[in-house]
Amino acid sequence: MCSPTGEKTQNCKGEDAINEQQAEPFPWRLGAMDAHCHVTDTMPSVARIANMKARVLTIMATRSQDQALVSSVAARQTIRSRADIDATPVESSDKIVPSFGWHPWFSHQFYNDTAGKPTFDSSAENVAEEKARHYAEVLTPAPSADFIASLPVPRPLSSFIAETRSRLDENPVALIGEIGIDKAFRLPQEWSQGEEPERDQNLTPGGREGRLLSPYHVKVPHQVQILEAQLRLAGELGRAVSVHGVQAHGVLFDALASLWKGHEKEVISRRKQRLVAEGAEDFSSSDEDSDDGFPRKQDRANNKPYKPKPFPPRVCLHSFSGPPQMMKQYLSPAIPVRIYFSFSMVVNLSSAGLESKFVDVIKACPDDLLLVESDLHTAGDEMDQVLEKMYRKVCGIKGWALTEGLQRIRKNYEDFIFG
Ligand SMILES: [Zn+2]
Repeated sequence: MCSPTGEKTQNCKGEDAINEQQAEPFPWRLGAMDAHCHVTDTMPSVARIANMKARVLTIMATRSQDQALVSSVAARQTIRSRADIDATPVESSDKIVPSFGWHPWFSHQFYNDTAGKPTFDSSAENVAEEKARHYAEVLTPAPSADFIASLPVPRPLSSFIAETRSRLDENPVALIGEIGIDKAFRLPQEWSQGEEPERDQNLTPGGREGRLLSPYHVKVPHQVQILEAQLRLAGELGRAVSVHGVQAHGVLFDALASLWKGHEKEVISRRKQRLVAEGAEDFSSSDEDSDDGFPRKQDRANNKPYKPKPFPPRVCLHSFSGPPQMMKQYLSPAIPVRIYFSFSMVVNLSSAGLESKFVDVIKACPDDLLLVESDLHTAGDEMDQVLEKMYRKVCGIKGWALTEGLQRIRKNYEDFIFG
């Protein structure tokens, strides 16, 4: 039922298909891909990955505490190439595509030493004073002295970029993520006395863990700087990125667009396309992006030449929650980046009210740019279950049989990761 009254609306076209495929067993053997999750937030659950039915989990790093964890999990169970996925059965325990990035919720922990005047001077004698200056500049409203005292001494952004570059060098398939912009979040309050030793030891530190929220936000221009530095690294190395955007669709689009400005693709008119077809002259090339004039470099995962660019080649807008009009903005043929849209039960269908909006967005999403994700923080059966639910939902709305849907989304996923 798509409307609360049960009336058939235009949005219900996929309803019959949904009913039909609900009864079908789920074809796990075709390979269900999870485009975005956080299993290293619950390290004891990682042992369950080998027994999961999903074929690939794309594990995001977000903050200081999880970068090395994602690296170590990937070192044991990584996927090294597209051929790896094809060559091994769904039961393979090699299921991991790692992703390294710094989430906007933690962006205040960096000072930007890559451009302009830094908000923190590492050579200054009075570290506490510099720390207060940094947090006063990047947080809003002005933080209290107690709150500043609870925050770490900020790190230079350049050191994180260097660290991420070497992690990406080690793993030729790794992505950059989770990165992005979030206007809605507020920093959690410091742990109150005696509370921290009682926290759940199974959880990787650094997350919110039920703490109350403070009134403090990270100023958007600071979030944009941290995001852009990571997008540039992805562009330089030719890696895909996984992006988070909450109440920030306009700012996020502008941040991405500022990087590809001047590199927009020439949009060939229908008439010109027809003339080309009639003249049988082939303007295309077997080389990727051969028309944009960048020097070439080897793309190790694909064994294809890759030319460094100021923007990433492929972007996934994870748990995309914008309206269809916003999706259209990203689909302009002039944009030189392939932009994918990924959907999760936990965000996109977290309330009954979101269902009708979701149907419209799935219908508007091009078939070849659609991805599915769990966005869960624990590996295991529940992750398989939410993935299955979302695959079934999407297939129902698109009118795809499950076999067709899984094959399509698997191809989309592989194109997103490997290019
Ligand atoms: Zn996430």
